[in-house]
Amino acid sequence: MAKIKPRKVRKYGKGARPCKRCGQYGPIVRKYGLNFCRQCFREVAVGLGFKKYM
Ligand SMILES: [Zn+2]
Repeated sequence: MAKIKPRKVRKYGKGARPCKRCGQYGPIVRKYGLNFCRQCFREVAVGLGFKKYM
């Protein structure tokens, strides 16, 4: 009988949230109440008026 290891459900650190747009976890930009990953934020930011956001 193999030992069955319980799957560890890891909750990410404080404030870790999936991207609001694409749903992936990662570096999330939470400025201005947005929860977008960097890539999405970059695209959304343009629409919001942020120019040349690196
Ligand atoms: Zn995203």
